[in-house]
Amino acid sequence: MATEKSKREPEEKGKESAREAALDFIREVINKDLETNKYGGRVATRFPPEPNGYLHIGHAKSICLNFGIAREYNGICHLRMDDTNPCKEETEYVEAIHNDVRWLGFDWGKHEYYASDYFQQIYEWAVKLIKAGKAYVCDLSADEVHDHRGTLTTPGKDSPYRNRSVAENLDLFERMRAGEFSDGSRTLRAKIDMASPNLNLRDPVMYRILKTPHHRTGDKWCIYPTYDWVHGQSDSIERITHSICTLEFENHRPLYDWFVENLGIHHPQQIEFARLNITYTMLSKRKLLHLVKGNFVRGWDDPRMPTIAGLRRRGYTPAAMRNFCKDIGLTKTESVIDVTRLENSLRDDLNKTAMRVMGVLHPLRLIIDNYPDNQTEELDAVNNPEDAGMGTRKVPFSKELYIEEEDFREDPPKQFFRLSPGREVRLRYAYYVTCSKVEKDASGKITTVHCTYDPATKGGDSPDHRKVKATLHWVSAKHAVDTEVRLYDHLFTKPDPEDAEEGKDWTSNINPKSLEILTGKLEPSVTKAKPGDRFQFERLGYFCLDADTTPQKFVFNRSVTLRDSWAKIEKGQKE
Ligand code: ATP
Ligand code: MG
Repeated sequence: MATEKSKREPEEKGKESAREAALDFIREVINKDLETNKYGGRVATRFPPEPNGYLHIGHAKSICLNFGIAREYNGICHLRMDDTNPCKEETEYVEAIHNDVRWLGFDWGKHEYYASDYFQQIYEWAVKLIKAGKAYVCDLSADEVHDHRGTLTTPGKDSPYRNRSVAENLDLFERMRAGEFSDGSRTLRAKIDMASPNLNLRDPVMYRILKTPHHRTGDKWCIYPTYDWVHGQSDSIERITHSICTLEFENHRPLYDWFVENLGIHHPQQIEFARLNITYTMLSKRKLLHLVKGNFVRGWDDPRMPTIAGLRRRGYTPAAMRNFCKDIGLTKTESVIDVTRLENSLRDDLNKTAMRVMGVLHPLRLIIDNYPDNQTEELDAVNNPEDAGMGTRKVPFSKELYIEEEDFREDPPKQFFRLSPGREVRLRYAYYVTCSKVEKDASGKITTVHCTYDPATKGGDSPDHRKVKATLHWVSAKHAVDTEVRLYDHLFTKPDPEDAEEGKDWTSNINPKSLEILTGKLEPSVTKAKPGDRFQFERLGYFCLDADTTPQKFVFNRSVTLRDSWAKIEKGQKE
């Protein structure tokens, strides 16, 4: 991790790599600030999560942006726990945040901070504003404050407590802190302008009384600063140069500016960008918490969750996630990214890195009648056609195999080119086989397909260049490893999960069929895998060994399907 630089050369180098990167509006601002020496050549960003839930892919975008900028400019990026709300924060979340940021490939070094560590300083600054006549204790209830606030088109009304003397305010504020008053009975408010067209400037609340212990400060405080009052000051204390946040804070910026200017303290530059939205995906910690607490999913790291922990368990790689965040770029206007772009980023990465294996999800028995009964051959299979360096492996072949149910049709429709009676196909890495007959059970369901093989086609090529229109994957029955396979669909049935029918809420859009569990058969090479290892099951998609795996039971998650593979096969092309 880059640390703050005093030496000249590394900084120059850092600036250059930033210039090479495609310039977005945020980097443009930073470059300009460097040119004018606004912050003495420093670049300090921060990622400020509230530890009230697990991080999701939207946070990943912010992490990549903030830590990425620090890296490019040889600056620093702070990790700050924005832990000012005592009610919702837990240590479990702090640990999950550490874990997820590191896993994404970023390191905050010694720069980990907690907004709660600033409570004393923030308190003193509040006193400073009171003394300057710029803050007052208000006895209106939350509802009354709301009623006095006015609307976008009508000005607000002054609080009857707005003109208390400095001495009275200081006394009341001190007593608020000492615990003399009950929760919600008083607040400290900034004295700005109840008629401002910007509602955020209509005497916003700075402190509320909340007799709730905090996960770090215990019961030291019974007044807590609001997000708006603490956020900019935290940035200022840490001497952040560029405070990057999402668009909803754009019209809070005048308030943050007002605070730092009236306190006369370091003034970071806030820059807003559009938050990430993805189709079929819920990106709100509050709602994700509801999914967890309501047992709609199996936990924060359920592979259907858009959390970093969930996507990791699903099989996402840090590189895939970083590439996605980079590819979608930065904008100033809200948009929704198609979830297939996220999936494609994983396909692109795993295509290059994942070991290929053969596995069958809906097994159909295939017997090669003319193959010697007790023979096993070890056939050579390519581990990754994209990367010769990954080498080859041996796959056992024998008389009894499993193929995919879908790869056989007794009565093939016109466009079906895979196995059917009388037809010859290639078994990948093995032989050409021709179907001779089928066996059925009492209900008429096909239980076994019988074939003959051509020994001259070993390895999957025929010496006479005979054409076959399909190549099937398979597993040797007696060598196969049973596995539970979890297939996932979108967690929501609608592209916009919030778009609920009248009288219903967003949970009515939860997809009841987002998880399908199968028992599949895999080639034995997978027995060496460890949870987290990722594979391509040929023709079926990318799969990741799940943490639920035990010595008795393998569990694989399907990370993502292959792109249009079936469509191609149906058209009769060889894969
Ligand atoms: P949520 O709405 O999911 O609860 P939040 O904004 O309340 O998110 P924080 O913990 O405050 O969560 O977020 C930490 C940082 O991550 C903030 O700087 C915020 O701007 C950024 N962030 C949160 N959600 C997104 C998103 N969808 N896209 C980009 N950045 C995001
Ligand atoms: Mg927030």
